[in-house]
Amino acid sequence: MNIADNIKKFTSELGPEITLVAISKTKPHNDILEAYQAGQREFGENKVQEMTEKWEALPRDIRWHMVGHVQTNKVKYMAPFVSLVHAGDSLKLLKEIDKEAEKNDRIIDCLLQIKIAEEESKFGLSRVEAEAILNSEKFKSFKHINVRGLMGMATFTEDMQQVKREFHNLKVIYDDLKAEYPHFDILSMGMSGDYRIAIECGSNMVRIGSSIFGDRNN
Ligand SMILES: *Cc1c(COP(=O)(O)O)cnc(C)c1O
Repeated sequence: MNIADNIKKFTSELGPEITLVAISKTKPHNDILEAYQAGQREFGENKVQEMTEKWEALPRDIRWHMVGHVQTNKVKYMAPFVSLVHAGDSLKLLKEIDKEAEKNDRIIDCLLQIKIAEEESKFGLSRVEAEAILNSEKFKSFKHINVRGLMGMATFTEDMQQVKREFHNLKVIYDDLKAEYPHFDILSMGMSGDYRIAIECGSNMVRIGSSIFGDRNN
């Protein structure tokens, strides 16, 4: 794996309209620095503690994305620096992010994670639950959180028609919500195995791990 070459390849393939988030979970600092030196600034992790350790050790102009499920008791550790929380999946979590953002005198950008996979057992909200959150008085009272769009993960399957159906469903939900919330500007969908389909279906932010850094041992 030549990480720098991979970053350059993705950057030119994606162009300026699609944000590349390099998912560096489980990867060492040196791998991240190699991507950084090739110009990459957006990195994603799925564990708060690992992301915080990397934030402390690595260049300060890295923009850190939390792409995994977050427990409310971990929010305080990432609140000083996190750039975008992808997996907003409950009002309780959003409330905690709002509270910790206020303590840090920040407004934290966030996405709502929508459950699109036809398979069970993934985190995320239904469309109805997401709308209920956005329309709630409680949510509207939050001053330190900015929900900018949606995130979703397709089923892990060889059946690309199914993947396409799931991404298309998310794009429809995104477009409908954007009509009501015109400031929405981020649709985070697509990983190493399915990012081309995700882009075809309207993604403007992809989360790529193994195709940049190589396979993970987990
Ligand atoms: C690990 C992870 C990715 C990247 O997966 P790859 O298949 O390695 O590209 C993307 N999104 C989330 C939420 C992840 O946890």
